[in-house]
Amino acid sequence: MTIKRLILVCALTALAACTSGGLNRSAGGVYAPGVAGEGDIDGLIVGHRLMAAGEYQLALDAYTRAAGQQGLNVDTLSALGSANLRLGRLGQAERLLRRAVAEDAGFAAAWNNLGVILMEQGNGFTAEGRDRTAHAEKLLATRAGKTYSLTVLAGATLYSSAEPCAMCAGAIYWAGIGRVVFGQTEVALKAITGDNPENPTLDLPCAVVFEAGQRPTEVVGPLLEDEASALQADYWGSRG
Ligand SMILES: [Zn+2]
Repeated sequence: MTIKRLILVCALTALAACTSGGLNRSAGGVYAPGVAGEGDIDGLIVGHRLMAAGEYQLALDAYTRAAGQQGLNVDTLSALGSANLRLGRLGQAERLLRRAVAEDAGFAAAWNNLGVILMEQGNGFTAEGRDRTAHAEKLLATRAGKTYSLTVLAGATLYSSAEPCAMCAGAIYWAGIGRVVFGQTEVALKAITGDNPENPTLDLPCAVVFEAGQRPTEVVGPLLEDEASALQADYWGSRG
């Protein structure tokens, strides 16, 4: 869509990103520490149970003991970061989680907890030489597919101010992005744009496209539709 703006974000900016779009490492459990490998994980298991019980300081103690036994690897770094995050020690949490993703860039839980924007993208009609297929989501999906593994993207969320069209939904599916959150539906957008030749809105729910696929793509939306619609109404109103 012509003025859609997309962001590839990590988890914690969920609602803030809805009106502008984005992609986020999220889905299950923002604070889930996760386990990437095998080995001596008893201390980690104890810590995970304490985290689930809301005993974050005790969990941190258990994770610290696990780190003493196993050393600082992607599992212990992510676990320590997650506990610090829950305890509100954001600087320490970020340092630990950044070390975890440096150890293993494919470890979804660490990215998830890090809460950073991975990628953002605006509409590319002008920048791409008046390419009418240069919708923001399609451009972002292509870039994401070339940058991140399927494992990482399966745990990522793309945020968009308007529902991805059928073309963009196809690109999101092929890139392997696991979750889409959008603000305004295509139906609502079509009510604003009509058959404007600049944006003859393709009115097909993105969930229909994803349901035809062979790997799951979760769809959440519409959310904050009034705010998302206002972005489009302002734009198309100014062009009428
Ligand atoms: Zn599109």
